Amino acid sequence: MQYRTLGRTGLKTSILGIGGFHLLEIGDDEAAALLHRYLDAGGNYVETAPQYGNGESERKVGRVMAERRGECILATKCNERERDAAAATFAGSLRRLQTDHVDALFMHHVQTGEELERILAPDGALRAAEAARDAGQVRFIGISTHGHPQLLIRALEAYPFDLIMTGFNFYDRFNFPLTEEKLLPMALERGVGVVGMKVVGDGFLWRSAEMAFRYAWSLPIHVMVAGMNTPAILEQDIARAEAFTPMDDAERERLFAESPELGNYVCRLCDKCLPCPEGVDIPRIFTLEGWYDRQMWDGVVRDPGDFWMRQVLRFWFTNEERARAAYANMEIRADACTDCGECEPRCPYNLPIVSKLGHAHYKLTVETAIMGR
Ligand code: SF4
Ligand code: SF4
Repeated sequence: MQYRTLGRTGLKTSILGIGGFHLLEIGDDEAAALLHRYLDAGGNYVETAPQYGNGESERKVGRVMAERRGECILATKCNERERDAAAATFAGSLRRLQTDHVDALFMHHVQTGEELERILAPDGALRAAEAARDAGQVRFIGISTHGHPQLLIRALEAYPFDLIMTGFNFYDRFNFPLTEEKLLPMALERGVGVVGMKVVGDGFLWRSAEMAFRYAWSLPIHVMVAGMNTPAILEQDIARAEAFTPMDDAERERLFAESPELGNYVCRLCDKCLPCPEGVDIPRIFTLEGWYDRQMWDGVVRDPGDFWMRQVLRFWFTNEERARAAYANMEIRADACTDCGECEPRCPYNLPIVSKLGHAHYKLTVETAIMGR
């Protein structure tokens, strides 16, 4: 197992963390066996949340913590936004986890500015986390979100969080480029511990899982939490963590060029199609398409499994309204394209830019209205 220092917490974490959500899908004994094997292999970052199965995940983790609490960094979360409710929820977490303290308590799934304001307020959930820290029940306080890097940037500006948790993978890097471009350097510069998740994009990157792990661990994140709910998956991920070597630039470029998931649809934000004589900011529009539905609907039906997966995952981060609002504010939008044909030959990834602009415009102006979202 390989280890990194979790920012200014100073904790040494294995690069592979075990996520508690997928323990819901298996029985108590299977979950305990997986956790024991993970710890035996040198893994030491165990995370869960009270929202996972209404405490079931914490309860399963707690059965093992009763024996092995001292061998790991234990993290749980809190999705309450008010102080009293957060305190009550956290008391339940400690009970279920069979411990008197956790190493990390994350404000869970903070998705909007309003939620951030609420947790920061004088009677907000952060006050409960601080009280628990003062009482020795929490060592470090963190915040997690899905697909909203700008929110974590705001959060780090507003409060000295010790830890952040968000998605890092080679697919969504193109949908939420701020995550790697701004959030990650900012967190590292402030000594914030960086906990990754969604290494295989909620399963979407299953064909490229090997490279997905190598990509994520090649970033300067500290630990990647993965869901592992069978012995085979656990062994595979442990082996990956043990064998990990960083990707070099050529491997990274090859992954970006050849990954079937990126294909000839996801914009790699290379800017080589510019300038457009009509002033269409092609990469910006495709980024907003990424916010909207992760550039997952491309008009092609491959097979039922792929179609279903894209439909389930495309709105996973509920960013549609934000994308539409940003698009509405653009002075020159996709419908300014005159199909002059200048940009497409310049795209190294053979994106059908003109038709993709049509898709993006439809998504960002019409589709959600039809779907009533
Ligand atoms: S095809 Fe459209 S987007 Fe491309 S350069 Fe011409 S006007 Fe611009
Ligand atoms: S050249 Fe292709 S991949 Fe690069 S920014 Fe333009 S559309 Fe995106």
